[in-house]
Amino acid sequence: MSGPAACLICGAAGHAPVFTYAAPDDYERTVGVETNGYARAWARCIHCGFHYSRYGRDAEILDRIYESAYRNASAAWRGQDVRATFARVTALPAAQSETKQRIAWIKGALAQHGVAQVNGHASLLDIGGASGVFAYEFQDDRWRSAVVDPSESGRFLEEDHGIPYAQAAFGPGLFDQSFDLVSLVYVLEHLRAPEEALRNARHAVSSCGGLYIEVPDARAFAHKPAEDDIFNACHLWMFDPQSLSTVLARTGFRVIAQDQRQTARGHYALMALAVPA
Ligand SMILES: [Zn+2]
Repeated sequence: MSGPAACLICGAAGHAPVFTYAAPDDYERTVGVETNGYARAWARCIHCGFHYSRYGRDAEILDRIYESAYRNASAAWRGQDVRATFARVTALPAAQSETKQRIAWIKGALAQHGVAQVNGHASLLDIGGASGVFAYEFQDDRWRSAVVDPSESGRFLEEDHGIPYAQAAFGPGLFDQSFDLVSLVYVLEHLRAPEEALRNARHAVSSCGGLYIEVPDARAFAHKPAEDDIFNACHLWMFDPQSLSTVLARTGFRVIAQDQRQTARGHYALMALAVPA
């Protein structure tokens, strides 16, 4: 198996298997990963306890999925296209809406810590948010959103809602402005180089701004079966509060608020708001 040769957090090579898989999952099958010779496991670093994925597939093969298949396939399984999903999810009342609850938490923490308290409009850049729900719902009298994502599926945001949409992998030089808040909501666990993404995000955050990260919480290993979608092949890392704080500190951020929640749909979520260190 390949995957990381050493722990992302502490650099130790030793690891123990937590879950092992004998056949490709739906995401891998979508991009042609075969059962013959297949290997995948969730491993736990024996030194620091960090959880990460090890696998036999070509490390780059899943990249294809982010251009269309990941969302198209998951939408197809649910029988809905992107616009229909957007309409259904944005119509949810606050008690059932993970997005509305997430936004309430973020705006409360921003106010409490005096982050992004700018005169006039404040700007959000949501990285990887092609579904559009978070960017759309974040907007209010004060906030204006933009989205960057390699998928074409988010183009409707600009067409239907006037939300600027850059169809690209986020990297340096994509925008000629900085943002009062940059968000990565269920993105970091997909990236082979999460620290590079955070360093790039660091350059996009304004001096009085913040960074919001939400990822699956490694607590899921104690509460969910190996077949749960949270352990799918697209997810490469499972952070806990300590490991998330570590990668943020390494990439120029300081965590000012953190929360662990079980969401309305039963997922274990880890939320962090950070500012430039
Ligand atoms: Zn480790």
